[in-house]
Amino acid sequence: MELGIAGKTAIVCAASKGLGRGCAMALAKEGVKLVISARGAEALEATAAELRALGADVTTVQGDVTTEEGRAALLAACPNPDILVTNAGGPPPGDFASFTLDDWRRAVEANMLTPIALIQATVRGMVERGFGRIVNITSASVRAPIPSLELSNGARAGLTGAVSALARKVAAHNVTINNLLPGPFDTDRIRGNWTRAAETTGRSLEEVGRESIKHIPAKRLGRPDEFGATCAFLCSDKAGFITAQNILMDGGGYPGTM
Ligand code: NAP
Repeated sequence: MELGIAGKTAIVCAASKGLGRGCAMALAKEGVKLVISARGAEALEATAAELRALGADVTTVQGDVTTEEGRAALLAACPNPDILVTNAGGPPPGDFASFTLDDWRRAVEANMLTPIALIQATVRGMVERGFGRIVNITSASVRAPIPSLELSNGARAGLTGAVSALARKVAAHNVTINNLLPGPFDTDRIRGNWTRAAETTGRSLEEVGRESIKHIPAKRLGRPDEFGATCAFLCSDKAGFITAQNILMDGGGYPGTM
């Protein structure tokens, strides 16, 4: 399918690895010009090299997107993106009783206020130009809370609520805002969670992995390229009538009928 976005410009946040990288790869294959960010230079430049090998025009911005300086650098490199994919690292697991208010502030800053600030800075230009696609990478925890990830459950639900009315306000200008909700995907983040679980329970990494996958109806983890393909479709010319949606990619894990 021709997605009709060749030559458009996209900011993809937190894109040197994992899901952000999957989105950048898929957009590069559609001929989108990319501005990608991450804190670590090495993986960022390695991903940029892979994207350029696909023929993409890529600018890298090294920095922490959850800080004002990091966002300013990203927006200076690309003040008028046609496509914005928001993403950042997720908050740490833990227990509600032991989280401090500062833990909550960090989670809200990273996973709610950061995407809101980037959307605020870019959505007006999208409206003026009559084209815009915003995809927020959130989490399956927005649909069904994950007990150990209360910081994520809260901050991401806040973002979802915050953009829901805005999506309706800008829809008439061919600007869409959707949230992509990953369940378990095969990235460093999930491997890190498994390693911590193995260390704390004394089980092997393989055992922890097998146990986690057992509960996924698809009996496997999702792949970042599958996630990226869905993101690219949502960013496409073809997806202009899809907005204000929360699209769950979890291999069937969510137990509800709808
Ligand atoms: P990942 O494999 O660990 O990759 C994270 C990427 O984000 C890396 O490129 C990392 O590079 C970059 N990054 C992290 N914090 C950043 C920051 N503050 N500023 C700029 N770049 C930053 O993680 P992932 O699995 O792709 O997860 C992406 C998001 O989806 C996270 O919020 C995660 O919680 C959420 N999620 C993931 C899953 C899953 O199964 N994978 C499920 C539900 C939700 P640097 O470290 O160099 O900055």
